[in-house]
Amino acid sequence: MSTCSHLGDVKVVSPRTPTGCEECLLSDSAWVHLRLCLTCGHVGCCDSSPNRHATAHYHAEGHPIIRSFEPGEDWGWCYADEAFLKPAPTA
Ligand SMILES: [Zn+2]
Ligand SMILES: [Zn+2]
Ligand SMILES: [Zn+2]
Repeated sequence: MSTCSHLGDVKVVSPRTPTGCEECLLSDSAWVHLRLCLTCGHVGCCDSSPNRHATAHYHAEGHPIIRSFEPGEDWGWCYADEAFLKPAPTA
């Protein structure tokens, strides 16, 4: 278990695309699981998905923390610290 120095940056976000991965919806692609950016509300697909948009969003925008957007899952991940966060951080 690692520690994360970004928990103060977590915002109250509303998902921008509650029905799925924002980029996959635009390109009509499939995803496996969904991740929610806790900085801006971007919804992206996980690293088991073909397009890995959640990780791509971190590299593009620098938003470090996501949480699972899957029903019943309560955990987060900080890309910058490679820290698993359970339960998912809240603002
Ligand atoms: Zn962190
Ligand atoms: Zn995607
Ligand atoms: Zn974001």
